[in-house]
Amino acid sequence: MSTNATPGEVPEDLTKRVTSFVDHQVIPVEHEIETDRELLARLRGAARAAGVFAPSAPTEYGGLGLSMREQADVLEESGRSLLGPLVMNCAAPDEGNMTLLEHVATPAQRERYLRPLAAGDARSAFAMTEPAPGAGSDPGTLTTRAVRDGGDWLIDGRKWFITGADGAAFFIVMAGTGADAATMFLVDAGTPGLSVGRHIPTIDAGFTGGHCEVVFDRCRVPSSAVLGEVDRGFANAQVRLGPARLTHCMRWLGVARRAHEIMLGYVVKRELFGSRLADLGLAQHLIADNEIDIAASRSLIRTTAATLDERGRANHETSIAKTFVSEAVGRIVDRSVQLCGGQGVSHDLPLARFLAEVRPFRIYDGASEVHRWSVARRAVRRYEATRTGGTTHG
Ligand SMILES: Cc1cc2nc3c(=O)[nH]c(=O)nc-3n(C[C@H](O)[C@H](O)[C@H](O)COP(=O)(O)OP(=O)(O)OC[C@H]3O[C@@H](n4cnc5c(N)ncnc54)[C@H](O)[C@@H]3O)c2cc1C
Repeated sequence: MSTNATPGEVPEDLTKRVTSFVDHQVIPVEHEIETDRELLARLRGAARAAGVFAPSAPTEYGGLGLSMREQADVLEESGRSLLGPLVMNCAAPDEGNMTLLEHVATPAQRERYLRPLAAGDARSAFAMTEPAPGAGSDPGTLTTRAVRDGGDWLIDGRKWFITGADGAAFFIVMAGTGADAATMFLVDAGTPGLSVGRHIPTIDAGFTGGHCEVVFDRCRVPSSAVLGEVDRGFANAQVRLGPARLTHCMRWLGVARRAHEIMLGYVVKRELFGSRLADLGLAQHLIADNEIDIAASRSLIRTTAATLDERGRANHETSIAKTFVSEAVGRIVDRSVQLCGGQGVSHDLPLARFLAEVRPFRIYDGASEVHRWSVARRAVRRYEATRTGGTTHG
């Protein structure tokens, strides 16, 4: 292991170490990241020294190898600074791509792609979404194609909103390879025919490498670039999507908690109408609702993480958790903004920035409507199966 984490360590101790690391080393300098180019490297060194680097990556690749349940607390703490997950190498999309590579890649692919990713020596991108009429909420409308050409594959298509694309060392690309079948490919940056285009200007700004357009124009890759089996792309992508949705929930809950803490700091000091703001009933309502949303989110994340550890897949549970938490973190941050008054919407406090950062989470990794649709369909199927004596699985 390349970290100081002790094998068999009680995760609670690790969580405390992450809290201390984020509080004392990351938050005090988080506003300097845009101007100090060396800062990330320095902080990553400190994260390694503190034994909190790459919590999600397998131990044989230098990570802490935490289970989903163990990650729940650690990633929540990392998320209390927007910079925390990046420093600790557990940010999207790399963290989800590590999970995918760990489970689906060949040993040679793991050595070539997972090792530098886990070490923090490379970044990656996951390229699925396309401009209309291509794949978005409905993966069945995928337009990017890959066709065999001798022993190689030729990829043609256009992707967009690809997080981290600018500067990524490699891309995991979803391309259609049959009527209803798709295959994932590992494509190195710099491969002829692959070009990274415009950064799409979005409400958020917290992801390194932006959200970019990416074009594949007769992009030639060898057969060894196939990730998983040919035509099994959609099924194998589920290995990434379920856990990645939940780790997003963990990190964003950390941001929401930080917003709540900042708001509490304000309301206990602010005197209004002859009392502390914290003691006014309508303010207490907002504070209490934040506490309820935090507790409910944490509980859903933990039980879903435990289910993922036990069963490997938990589509129904991750849909429920993703929908609830993505909306709850927005509510928590918004209430925090409200109670901080003018400062809440100013950039003197980080709350306005947090509000912008959490908003897209209701759209990526499956929009709330898509997840509600899936949850409802499963509920109806389950009901019908019990009426006819059959069984269904989430
Ligand atoms: C900040 C950000 C980062 C992203 N990063 C990546 C990335 O790294 N890689 C990648 O491949 N993609 C990425 N995406 C793309 C994201 O996954 C898609 O935006 C998302 O899947 C929605 O697809 P779409 O934009 O095409 O919207 P559409 O598919 O056109 O959907 C539009 C809206 O329709 C509604 N809707 C959808 N389905 C239903 C339904 N069944 N019933 C009712 N209403 C419905 C929802 O409100 C949805 O928001 C990112 C997006 C954002 C905003």
